[in-house]
Amino acid sequence: MTQPLHERIEAFMAPRRAEPLELLARLVAIQSGSRNKAGLDRMADEMALVLGQILPETRILPFEGCGNMVQAMTRPAARGEKGIVLVGHMDTVFPADTAFTDYREDETRCFGPGVYDMKGGLVVAVYALKALEHLGLLADMPVTVLCNSDEEIGSPVSRPWIEEQARGALAALVFEGGGTNRDVVTGRKGRLGLRLTVRGRAGHAAKGGPKASAILELAHKIIALEDLNGVAGATLNVGQVSGGIGPNTVPDLASAELDIRFPDQRAQALIEEAAAELTARMTIPGTTAELSPTSGRPAMPQSDGNRRLYAIIRDQARLFGYDLPEELRSGVSDANFIGALGVPVLDGLGPVGDLDHSELEFILKNSIFERIALTAGTIAEIWNHERRL
Ligand SMILES: [Zn+2]
Repeated sequence: MTQPLHERIEAFMAPRRAEPLELLARLVAIQSGSRNKAGLDRMADEMALVLGQILPETRILPFEGCGNMVQAMTRPAARGEKGIVLVGHMDTVFPADTAFTDYREDETRCFGPGVYDMKGGLVVAVYALKALEHLGLLADMPVTVLCNSDEEIGSPVSRPWIEEQARGALAALVFEGGGTNRDVVTGRKGRLGLRLTVRGRAGHAAKGGPKASAILELAHKIIALEDLNGVAGATLNVGQVSGGIGPNTVPDLASAELDIRFPDQRAQALIEEAAAELTARMTIPGTTAELSPTSGRPAMPQSDGNRRLYAIIRDQARLFGYDLPEELRSGVSDANFIGALGVPVLDGLGPVGDLDHSELEFILKNSIFERIALTAGTIAEIWNHERRL
């Protein structure tokens, strides 16, 4: 009788528990903030080296204005067969001159810039593929790995590339950090950044009488906009304002930056429509206003396809002896773009941790091994299951 796959995966990893942590330490030692091209290019070199040992079709995609990126494929994927796409970003939020540079471990945790967001996730992807390769399951599977370098600034350059590679895939897995209860992410809210600009008429403050103050009009609009909180499950935050040149001048210009989060396309449409209506409605005569988008990612609803992948990964977790909850996460990731293409996607496959985007960022050491085994089993099972649909 052949040994079940989950046992073979565990048997492969058991004597290798030092290796993933060594790789993590190496990756974290490379400073790779989204604007640090030199560091990101070194990350791309390192990832290409590591992935090139597993995937025969590995190449670095060079870029001028941002960090290089990596695309690594099995032969069936390189021939264009639709399969499974793994996505992880190499950039962190920490700039090149950060004082937060060191990797360290204690008994139960690993610390350092990007351990959780998301160099730990890159390590999980690498070792899950190593396990499948060792068990002879990878070569015939169409698997593509994409490592981008601009996720933390909204993936402006990598988005079309990720969309092109993911379109029509059987499934996609994204390696952002796992939730605190081991959760994997089956849905994410969308995000829209907007700038509201109000124009009025400048004049001397001492003159009195009616005035077209851009700041006063903006104040009315901010209160009305904040009232949209809760519409169709959306949240709205006016997080930054500016305007005016001094107390003795009626301000002719004022602006506000908005952050809107929504659970689905319908909510997005509703809130955008309401915000546009408020923008057009003037309280102070003589002022005008316009609304312009600054950034955004579509919502990743908990689709049937995502729930199907969740059922597969939950069953795998049970084989390894634990329960795996699902999570609807408020923050956005590259999974949002992929989900919006209609491709079944799971996110949060990286290790369990917390406090990302701060110097207290950490992961739980054990969870990296747990996620490696879970991901390996899940990729194999997705390939068994989804290609038959
Ligand atoms: Zn991230």
